[in-house]
Amino acid sequence: MTREITTIELKLPFKTGSVNCYLVETDTGFILIDTGSPSNSSELESTLSEFGCNSGNLHLILLTHGDFDHSGNAASLRKKFNTKITMHAEDSPMVERGDMFLTRKKGNFIQSWIVKTMFGFGKSQRFSPDLEITDGFSLTEYGLKAEVIHIPGHSKGSTGILMADGTLICGDLFESTGGSDNPKLNSLMDDLEAANRSIDKLKNLKVDTVYPGHGQPFTMESFLVKYSEYKVSNESG
Ligand SMILES: [Zn+2]
Repeated sequence: MTREITTIELKLPFKTGSVNCYLVETDTGFILIDTGSPSNSSELESTLSEFGCNSGNLHLILLTHGDFDHSGNAASLRKKFNTKITMHAEDSPMVERGDMFLTRKKGNFIQSWIVKTMFGFGKSQRFSPDLEITDGFSLTEYGLKAEVIHIPGHSKGSTGILMADGTLICGDLFESTGGSDNPKLNSLMDDLEAANRSIDKLKNLKVDTVYPGHGQPFTMESFLVKYSEYKVSNESG
């Protein structure tokens, strides 16, 4: 059965684009995947209530990774909606300490300083997750036929949620900010080799429509075609 997925697109500060949160209706209530940044809190909360999601039926907040534009409202929502937060343990230090670069390879110092200054976690936005998810974690106890797939690359603890019908919510492994006919690997990759292994892993699973953290949904098939063209042109150029 195809699940009702509501895309909640929220504008990010400093005109840095937008981020998608996904509200998934389950047999028993709702699961919210990603939460936007704190500047989005009132818009996110009013959208959730518009769709009938409240403190009695939001059973889980699942974070695809620890970046602030995805995890920034998790702590306040947990309190207001009396719910639990889950994410992969390898990204937990980022949200516990409020540092998106803590578990990443040390890149450009100035770039990371700018990002931290613009998007740093305030103390009240830091949190410890309630549950750890690992590869293969089943969401059936939350009323959803879906499993968590560990797909590192953008960060060490990045995960996707693969539903029984082949729908994948992929976090920031892929993006399609140039439109649904132009899916690509997210431009911010911590570990390209890990990302390529994650793609190979997804190739062996039945993935149909992909819902990214940034941009419009696209098919896995269209991503694979684009990505092989890109690799060929890069290798020959
Ligand atoms: Zn993101």
